[in-house]
Amino acid sequence: MNDLLIRRARLMDEPGTVDVAIKDGYIVAAGGGVAGSARQMVDAAGRLLIPAFVDAHLHLDRALTAPQEGVTSLAEAIDDFQRRSRRMDKNDFIDRGRRVLKMAVRHGTTTMRTHITVNEALGLRGLEAALELKEEFAGRVELQVFAMAGELEPAPTPSLKDFLEEALRMGADGLGGAPHLAEHMEEWVDFIFELAGRYNSLIDLHVDETDDPSIASLEYIAAKTIQNGFQGRVVAGPCCSLAAVDEDKAARAIAAVKEAGISVITLPSCNLYLMGRRDKGLVRRGVTRVRELQAAGVNVAFASGNVRDAFRPFGNANMLEEALLTAQVLQMGTPLELKNVLKMGTYNAAAAIGLKKYGIKAGDRADLVLLDATGPAEAIIGQVEKVCVIKGGRVAVRNDKKSDLII
Ligand SMILES: [Zn+2]
Repeated sequence: MNDLLIRRARLMDEPGTVDVAIKDGYIVAAGGGVAGSARQMVDAAGRLLIPAFVDAHLHLDRALTAPQEGVTSLAEAIDDFQRRSRRMDKNDFIDRGRRVLKMAVRHGTTTMRTHITVNEALGLRGLEAALELKEEFAGRVELQVFAMAGELEPAPTPSLKDFLEEALRMGADGLGGAPHLAEHMEEWVDFIFELAGRYNSLIDLHVDETDDPSIASLEYIAAKTIQNGFQGRVVAGPCCSLAAVDEDKAARAIAAVKEAGISVITLPSCNLYLMGRRDKGLVRRGVTRVRELQAAGVNVAFASGNVRDAFRPFGNANMLEEALLTAQVLQMGTPLELKNVLKMGTYNAAAAIGLKKYGIKAGDRADLVLLDATGPAEAIIGQVEKVCVIKGGRVAVRNDKKSDLII
């Protein structure tokens, strides 16, 4: 007997409705008229069933720390967190992280990659907290923990190198950082690749989060990716200055990113809040060249980035909300474009962070969200309810209490 049978669900890319049978955490059948009984039945009644959202870039350690006074630049936001994090103990990180993870799963995110800062002031407290949350939320949200360092350091110091290596030994899933902020960007990038190579680790870098076209580390990172055989294992975001450079330079960088198999993650809300702050009148959006990247065949996803902190005082860990904002910023409004946007927060994000067996076909993991809509456009524009969230084949959250839904 199956564990769960979802009847009459509409999928993003197929006409009509399908039934989806789930057993032992995986989809065992998906198609028209799937037979068999199940312990639990969900009648989707023609609603849209999607693979659960993947929030591929979120700073859990900073979340819910928005200051009373706003900031006017990325540097100020970094400084705000560095100053205040000295007083934060591990329990503080855990409490805030837990609140955000609960918000995320309530809104249909069942996989998240978090970037956690390690440095002299913070030590490994934030990382320890994230690893504990990873255990606590297993079964509801799969958490990938990436250690990042060096936002205020011109070059990798011996102690920062030690912190990052210790983070990998403790169980971090990968390495991050923000090399473009460093005086010696190349030294940082080289070190990250060297350490990742030694530990067979993934890399997810903050890249060119600036309007300044003279700061452009993306091509260098792409070259290092190929040189080190890391194709398909490197993520870059939010790549703001790619939007500021001239067309020739942009085309070169995009071709290099494609060749290196780098996925790009855009953070539209964070960029709108922090970029273009010196502009008067026409204020730049700071969002990377998503259309051109996609046209070149680069995998592009969007993510929350920050939730209610100095970097972005907004956010509800709600990927459907981020989808609407992304669609507006990217000027993607047709049904086809809105389907593309929904895929950026699901399929593309899953591909970026290397999730296997992701989707809605036999053999895929049963991480699913039933939306109270008949298609992506209605879901995004209407900001509809996530009727139920399924993780590992179990109904993890029910937001619609109608008694006829789950039989
Ligand atoms: Zn970030």
